[in-house]
Amino acid sequence: MGRFVEGGGKILARAGAGRDVGGVRTVIYPGSFDPITNGHLDVIERAAKLFDRVIVAVAVNSSKAPLFSKDQRQEQIAEAVAALGNVEVDAFDGLLVDFARDQKAQAIIRGLRAVSDFEFEFQLALMNRKLEPDIETIFMMPRETYTFLSSKLVKEIAQLGGDVSAFVPPHVERALADCRN
Ligand code: ADP
Repeated sequence: MGRFVEGGGKILARAGAGRDVGGVRTVIYPGSFDPITNGHLDVIERAAKLFDRVIVAVAVNSSKAPLFSKDQRQEQIAEAVAALGNVEVDAFDGLLVDFARDQKAQAIIRGLRAVSDFEFEFQLALMNRKLEPDIETIFMMPRETYTFLSSKLVKEIAQLGGDVSAFVPPHVERALADCRN
């Protein structure tokens, strides 16, 4: 049974056992975001409608050598989500479930573009559930036009002088152009 939190005579929230902090539903959206793309932003906007608090979390200990530093990636994300009042940007370098627990998050969001994403994401989600059974993984699909989009592809196109304006926000496009010069 949950516990009712009183506030000014009104029931504000039902705080159940675990991570229901004053009724605030928090979700973590982890990834490399090297750099953030319009596909990521599509997922973030969808998550922001479902949750009270969305934390976009830059993974620092990724085995991939990133093009942009952790701080650059965080700044690029912060600028891209500035208009969304319930979205925060953070970074983590340990286990995702530890970070999620620290943030009192109920769930992790992952984006699914195609069937090819599924196998790895499924494995990751089940492993995270094993590590922390109370945190759910939720999969979200972006708008169809973004299903072919990946940070890796965007970097390759930009590196070769191609136009990436349809795939990333303008400030990221400029940062990619700067890398080329
Ligand atoms: P990775 O963890 O493979 O480096 P990213 O950091 O780029 O992936 O992305 C983080 C999450 O966002 C992953 O769940 C990934 O599947 C998802 N994602 C990446 N690009 C898109 C896109 N275009 N549309 C929807 N989801 C995406």
